[in-house]
Amino acid sequence: MDIECHKRRGLASKMEVSWGNVKMRYLILSDIHSNLEAFQAVLGDASARGGFDEVWCLGDIVGYGPSPRECITLLRQQRHVSVAGNHDWGALGKLDLAYFNPEAAFAGHWTAQQLSAEDKGYLQGLPTSIGRDIFTLVHGSPRDPIWEYLFSPDVAKANFYHFEGSFCLVGHTHVPVIFEYLGERERCASYLFPADASLNLDQRRLIINPGSVGQPRDGDPRASYAILDSEKGAIHHYRVPYDISLTQRKMRQAKLPQRLIDRLSYGW
Ligand code: ZN
Repeated sequence: MDIECHKRRGLASKMEVSWGNVKMRYLILSDIHSNLEAFQAVLGDASARGGFDEVWCLGDIVGYGPSPRECITLLRQQRHVSVAGNHDWGALGKLDLAYFNPEAAFAGHWTAQQLSAEDKGYLQGLPTSIGRDIFTLVHGSPRDPIWEYLFSPDVAKANFYHFEGSFCLVGHTHVPVIFEYLGERERCASYLFPADASLNLDQRRLIINPGSVGQPRDGDPRASYAILDSEKGAIHHYRVPYDISLTQRKMRQAKLPQRLIDRLSYGW
């Protein structure tokens, strides 16, 4: 299924041209949230679908789930870049867990106790924003990378003034969605990014959320991710099932909050 482009706005840049000349497949991940089974399922599925050259991770590697150390280790075994998310900062004490809801804060304190000094050093070194050719990578929004949620078109529209290049990749809401800039006088459009949909990266300016690997919140409990294919000039959204009951068992053993365990079953 193709999400069509009806509007061409002449925003192509020199960077776009150079980007299209390099054949690369990027695995776009966000919000792994210490869910090793979901992360492994995504890596396996992406490998089976033609593989990838590099991982672009949009933050929240840890928090909520039972396997923070294993997820950091597995990510670091990939060729990758990653930005920091609010839960990564929460586990480090860079962000006060008092701002989190009670279950998230509980999991944040638990996560902080699990991490080694090396894990913390890795998370500490993550930037809040990364620019790669025509792409900007952030966790929440380009205006407020750690904390702002992009749920509504109006909020997304304001954020188009806060990044250069054509495309911004975000996570944080755990909902796969696309925002399209329609010009100063018009509102921004938003579209759900359905599983198995392919989005052509043309001359539109877009903010794209690939959904969450480890804690989806769009009603589909399967792990969510995207592949950016530079040769095709497209980004493809995939969902993959994983062993949710195994993750939940680990969470029970770790005595993580019941609500966080239950929500994995429903994808909310
Ligand atoms: Zn998150």
